[in-house]
Amino acid sequence: MDQFITGKTQLAALFAEPASHSISPSMHNLAFQLTDINAVYLAFEVGENTLKQAIEAVRSFHMLGVNLSMPNKVLALNYVDEISETAKLSGSINTIINNQGKLLGDNTDGLGFLQSLKIRKISILQKKMTILGIGGAAMALIAQTALVGIKEIAIYNRPKKTEELTVIQQKVKQIAKQTGCQITINNINNVKKLQQDLSESLLLINATNVGMSPLENQTLIDSTLLPKHLIVYDLIYQPKETRLLKEAKLNGNETINGFDMLFYQGAAAFKKWTNQDMPVEKIRTLLGKNT
Ligand code: NAP
Repeated sequence: MDQFITGKTQLAALFAEPASHSISPSMHNLAFQLTDINAVYLAFEVGENTLKQAIEAVRSFHMLGVNLSMPNKVLALNYVDEISETAKLSGSINTIINNQGKLLGDNTDGLGFLQSLKIRKISILQKKMTILGIGGAAMALIAQTALVGIKEIAIYNRPKKTEELTVIQQKVKQIAKQTGCQITINNINNVKKLQQDLSESLLLINATNVGMSPLENQTLIDSTLLPKHLIVYDLIYQPKETRLLKEAKLNGNETINGFDMLFYQGAAAFKKWTNQDMPVEKIRTLLGKNT
């Protein structure tokens, strides 16, 4: 565990903008120490203008790999050599794995989400979920859950321009075709349909920014619409309890925030870079005081 930087120390990193607030460096550096891997993880401010050169550096510096966050998850698809099945279906990558100079783009958000359900013994097999938002995280979850056997997904989003909607419809159609999952895209203002979908769903997922700064005091769902059986999952981890989760809890629903998903998507990336399991529980305990 007392690892010092040497001539053999390898590098992994986060490319994002902003990057400095991320907990990924703490998580991965602890993981390297606890698993005795001679590597360090740094956060770099990388945005659209510098992403191409930054990804080239993954190759030239023989880096283990990188995590990608906003605004790089879609643009990065253009700069890798291969793309995993999940990433292809999601249309975005959050992880690059350097396989001896060949860069594989992957998306572990869906895996992190599934693991966060698994530890709670929640099975989505043959079930239905309702998801708010159709951005990068939503697409990753839709692709991954469809791949592992969810039966039906109802997506709700605010109205979009026709061209944008067509692109999303095509992506969703491809996921449905490839997996056999039934997926509908609905207008968030269609409260009657939303209420029907919620009554048939195991899970409601908020995959929008509504609930985090600067929209901290907002929610897209009136809690009177939530049937008691519904598990309400907000992908936001800061704040720990969004207004949606607070109101759902008061209504008697089981609630989950985005913290576990964040951890387990990182653990999945770590495993892909190092072939070793991240000691997640130990790291959670060590970081718990600060998160
Ligand atoms: P994104 O690609 O920018 O997508 C954001 C989505 O939110 C879009 O569908 C957007 O709708 C919708 N949205 C934003 N503001 C809205 C508003 N005022 N009313 C209604 N819809 C609104 O972002 P992302 O990467 O998918 O992230 C989405 C959320 O997931 C964020 O809160 C992020 O922190 C969280 N997340 C958590 C994890 C984790 O590990 N826990 C991982 C990834 C993301 P439009 O398309 O109409 O703008």
